[in-house]
Amino acid sequence: KIPHFSHTPAPYNGPLASDLSKRRKQYLPTIVGTYYTHPLNLVEGKMQYVYDENGRRYLDAFGGIATVLCGHCHPDVVEAIVNQTRLLQHTTVLYLNHAVVDFAEALAAKMPGELKVVFFTNSGTEANELALMMARLYTGYHDVISIRNGYHGNATSTMGTTAQFFHKFNVVQTGIHHVLNPDPYRGVFGLDGAKYANDVQDIINYGTCGHVAGFVAEAIQGVGGVIELAPGYLPAVYSIIKKAGGLFIADEVQSGFGRTGSHFWGFEAHGIIPDIVTMAKGIGNGAPIGAVVTTREIAKVLKYAYYFSTFGGNPVCTAAGLAVLNVIEKDELQQNAHVVGSYLKDRLNSLKEKHEIIGDVRGRGMLLGVELVKDRKLKIPAKDENLHILEQMKDMGVLVGKGGFYGNVLRITPPLCFTKEDADFLVEVMDYTMSKM
Ligand code: PMP
Repeated sequence: KIPHFSHTPAPYNGPLASDLSKRRKQYLPTIVGTYYTHPLNLVEGKMQYVYDENGRRYLDAFGGIATVLCGHCHPDVVEAIVNQTRLLQHTTVLYLNHAVVDFAEALAAKMPGELKVVFFTNSGTEANELALMMARLYTGYHDVISIRNGYHGNATSTMGTTAQFFHKFNVVQTGIHHVLNPDPYRGVFGLDGAKYANDVQDIINYGTCGHVAGFVAEAIQGVGGVIELAPGYLPAVYSIIKKAGGLFIADEVQSGFGRTGSHFWGFEAHGIIPDIVTMAKGIGNGAPIGAVVTTREIAKVLKYAYYFSTFGGNPVCTAAGLAVLNVIEKDELQQNAHVVGSYLKDRLNSLKEKHEIIGDVRGRGMLLGVELVKDRKLKIPAKDENLHILEQMKDMGVLVGKGGFYGNVLRITPPLCFTKEDADFLVEVMDYTMSKM
C-alpha cells in the first residue's frame, strides 16, 4: 500500500526549479539546492507543510534544520514581524526599544539560577563564538574542550570546536581539544558516561596547563547524528571542568525552546545548570537571531565596547522571538513535542523490528534520529541507502534530513506542531520506502 498524500495546488508563476538550478551554478555555492537529485523548489510554507512550484505538498519533518519551531509562517510570528517592521525596523542596541527588552525579559524568565543577562547575536555560530570568548576572558585561561562529534558553528573558534567537519579544511585552532564522543551506540564505553568523562580529565591533565576556559556541548548532538550523550556524562564533566577553573557552556541551538519535549532546555534533563547557554535556530522561527545568556557576574567581562553587533538584538528579530515564546505557551508546543515525539519514537522503534537496515532509533521529543547500517552487528554505516531513502521519502511527500559523521542518520526535526497523524504518515512512508529497497 502506497501511503496517500494530498496535492494542494498553489498559484505559482515564477521560475521553475530547472531554470533556477542552471542559474544557481553560476551564482551560488555548490551546496545550494543539491539535497536531492532533482532540485526541490519550495515556494510556500504553512505550519508543518511546504509546497513546491507545482503546488505539491510536503510534510516538512526537517523544519529548516530544527529551526521552524512553531510551524512555517505561523500567523502570530508573521504578525509580530510585520507589525514591528512597520513600526521600527532597526536601531542597534545602543538605543532602547521595546522589542529587545521584552524578549530579553521573557527569555531570562525561562532560565534557571542566575542566568539572567542576554546578549543577542545573528546566528548560532556567533552565539558560540561569543560564549567561548566570554569564557576565555572571564577565566583568564585559553584552552577549550569540545566533544569530537559536536557541531558549534563555522567561524574561527567554533570551527575549531567542530572537529567532525572543519579539521578537513585546515582551520584547526590552537587551544581547542576534542574529547571522546559519549555515544551510547558507537562509543567505546557504550552507556558508561563516567568513563567518557575520564577522557575529559585526561585531556586536561595531558593537553593543558591544568586549567581550562571552558567546555562546550550540545545536550543532544544534532548535526552529529542526533546522539544522546551517555547518562551521567554531563554531570561528571561539569565537576571536572569546575575543578579546572572553567565554565560550562550549553549549546542549546537545536535542543532548546522545548524541542526535546521533556524539558524547555536540553541540559535540564542532565540536572546541571550551565554558566553560559547559547541558542539560535528555533528562537526566531526562522528569523535570523541567536542569543547568549549568562550570569551578571560573567557578563561583566563583556562591556559593549568589547562586543558589539550591528544587527544583534534587531527589533524585528526580537519581536519574532517574543512571539515564538508566546506561541510555545499558547499552543502547548513543548507538551506536544513530548507526546507526539514519544509516540513517533515508539513507532520508529517498531519499524526497527521490521527493517534490518535500522541500527538505532534515538533522540527525544522532536529531535529524533534513525541510524542506518548495512549490518547490525558490524554497524557498517549505510550512507548511500540513507540518500536513497531521503530521496524516495521526498518523492512520496515527506522531507527529512540527514546527518552523522558517516552521513547515515535520518534526522527528524519537524515543527513542534507536528501531529500524531503526521507521525503516522511519516512512518508509513519510511516503512514503504524501506520495504522497496
Ligand atoms: N550549534 C548547533 C548545535 C547547531 O546545530 C548549529 C547549526 N547547525 C550551530 C551551532 C550553528 O548555528 P548557525 O548555523 O545558526 O550559525
